Amino acid sequence: MLSVLQTGRRELRGSNPVIPPHRSLKRSNGNRLGRVERSKATYEKRKANRQCSYGGCLAKSELGHTRCRRHLQAMSKRNKEQYQKRIRDCLCSYCGQLPPFWGVRCIICRQRFTKHPLPYGARRALRLFRDAQKRRERERIQVEARHAVRRLLASGDINKKSAKALRLYAGIDNGKWRTYNEVGQVMKISKERVRQMLLPSKITLTRLLGDSVPWRPVTELNLMSN
Ligand SMILES: [Zn+2]
Ligand SMILES: [Zn+2]
Repeated sequence: MLSVLQTGRRELRGSNPVIPPHRSLKRSNGNRLGRVERSKATYEKRKANRQCSYGGCLAKSELGHTRCRRHLQAMSKRNKEQYQKRIRDCLCSYCGQLPPFWGVRCIICRQRFTKHPLPYGARRALRLFRDAQKRRERERIQVEARHAVRRLLASGDINKKSAKALRLYAGIDNGKWRTYNEVGQVMKISKERVRQMLLPSKITLTRLLGDSVPWRPVTELNLMSN
């Protein structure tokens, strides 16, 4: 029974990629947890005595480190080589398993080092893209509204003065929408008078274009006119 348990355990350890096979074989005759505890205690003891924590090394550890200068340098060299190999192989510098995402680490390891799940460059690109989309939509609405204004002007359904105000407001002459104030300045009338003159045309245009108008919804305009 015991041997079955032991082999079962050995197989389990063997399947664990973290523990090299030669070590798992050595461990099969001892209590694993006990060994871990013991090596931890040894490590702590060597650390407290300022002895290099590398097994069997007799040198003193460097100040602020747990290893001697020679073993620190060896560790640093190994890490550097591993880092460079992973970069060469196009793998995450931290786990060495996934491809890097916007830098040297993969999308999962990245989260251990940063607050935002997306890097600054990606966020900026997304923001610019959304801004461009909004701008394009705004321009499309303005172009369509100007077309509708042209059709309305061509129909001749509005009186001369209102037509002039509308032409100036939609910028039929220069391609730029004007404010009530700017229209008022050109026509030498008040801003309020411009609003009153444009209201019937705006209601007609809103009925034609629905929500896609470059001004506030017509319901608000109705309220304002009361
Ligand atoms: Zn050492
Ligand atoms: Zn990684």
